[in-house]
Amino acid sequence: MGWQNLGEGILASIIATLITNFIFQNRKKKSKEKIKLKLPKDPFLISLSFAVFFGILSLFGFYYGWEKFAYIIVIDFLFIAITIWIKNNQCPKCKKIFKKITHDPEILKEEKRPYRHKDSTVTLYSDGSVKNKKHHGKERIIMETIRTQRNRYSCSDCLYQWKGDVHERNLNKHERPKPNIRRTNIRNPDEPELY
Ligand SMILES: [Zn+2]
Repeated sequence: MGWQNLGEGILASIIATLITNFIFQNRKKKSKEKIKLKLPKDPFLISLSFAVFFGILSLFGFYYGWEKFAYIIVIDFLFIAITIWIKNNQCPKCKKIFKKITHDPEILKEEKRPYRHKDSTVTLYSDGSVKNKKHHGKERIIMETIRTQRNRYSCSDCLYQWKGDVHERNLNKHERPKPNIRRTNIRNPDEPELY
């Protein structure tokens, strides 16, 4: 790990971080407003800046084979995870985190859908792993209720309200008949030998 390519890596990472900040701080500008570049206050952008910095640095580390390369990758993944978490949990208006309140979802529609079921028996080896699964009897149709809903959130700080993605929820999924379980003393042939 030479000093020269470490310097190159840090310089490139700083430039990438500045470009990221420049893009995010000016993307919603109207034409007459001045463009700006300042220290970010939005926790999302702060975390994203670190993710970009260590991401570019890890590319240099990979290319030059730095011995501390693995640590840079781990730090980068940590910042990527934090960035995603902040994006999903911050208030879209005031950008604060730890202020999101989840309310009862808005129900958009409910419909019945058929689920085809056939009784089955699962045979297990002595170690609890599955030997086989056999279906028997007649197929029957179970009607299930599918609810289409949208999550609703609000910010406990600035009181802004917003909605999440529309998604489906099967209200009867947990009531589906379970297969019969048959335990046996048959040894799993894939189980490693002890001796
Ligand atoms: Zn807010």
